[in-house]
Amino acid sequence: MTVERIHTPTEMRARAEAWRCAGKRIAFVPTMGYLHEGHVSLLDEGRRRGDILALSIFVNPTQFGPKEDLSRYPRDLDGDLAKAAAAGVDVAYVPEAAAMYPDGYQSYVTVEKLQDGLCGASRPGHFRGVATVVLKLFNAVQPHVALFGMKDYQQLQVIRRMARDLDLGVEVVGMPIVREADGLAKSSRNAYLSPDERLRALALSRALVSARESFEMGERDAARLVDSARATLHLTPGVRLDYLELRDAASLEPLHGRVVGPAVMAVAAFVGTTRLIDNQLFEP
Ligand code: AMP
Repeated sequence: MTVERIHTPTEMRARAEAWRCAGKRIAFVPTMGYLHEGHVSLLDEGRRRGDILALSIFVNPTQFGPKEDLSRYPRDLDGDLAKAAAAGVDVAYVPEAAAMYPDGYQSYVTVEKLQDGLCGASRPGHFRGVATVVLKLFNAVQPHVALFGMKDYQQLQVIRRMARDLDLGVEVVGMPIVREADGLAKSSRNAYLSPDERLRALALSRALVSARESFEMGERDAARLVDSARATLHLTPGVRLDYLELRDAASLEPLHGRVVGPAVMAVAAFVGTTRLIDNQLFEP
């Protein structure tokens, strides 16, 4: 079985409109490719929720900063299409950058407060690029439901907010983080890690697990939870912390004092030159 590929927004939209006219429910999973089990978990859920399952593979230039890894981002279209076929994908939307951002392009979406802080602070313009491309992908694919990973927790909240604020009529579903057996969150960027860095990268999930354990033992003081997780992370040489913060799980506002409602501990760190992220929800 080969998966059909569609290359332009016009063609994608025409196809989506035909599905909609035929009364089909469209489920959509946007990705940057180099698919792993995290992506596949979204495809599996999409398969359950839609009559048509659409996947997009697009390494979106507008969400990368000038010094980031756009040009070396891992790619494997043939491998991705084989995994997509195995997951029951009906169509793969694989636009070229020139089709998405033709000459003269100048329209962007900004989700104001949610994009501040966390990854937004260290990657200025990142969420503007993400919101813009997701809106463009939604316009082409016309999904009823779209699936995103909680691995990119801030991204999920930004997209939920955009879908509500701009009346997109798309149900946004967040799916749990898929991890390697030793706890490392699966990521296309894990491919950059040397064997030694791969070991050091465990510091992120370990820090979150140690915080979760203190939380489960009854610790509710935000500062103490953060301090102990940071301390765990600092124990690993070769890992440079970008941020580790505890925030309100829905608004992403910083938390002080006692944790009384759902909270998310989010971490980003460089292992060598690779920037990794992870997070953990706390529900009192
Ligand atoms: P990406 O290709 O990295 O842009 O990711 C595409 C989608 O897959 C996003 O919604 C991610 O949050 C999701 N995703 C990436 N890694 C994981 C993971 N380990 N578990 C669950 N979802 C993931």
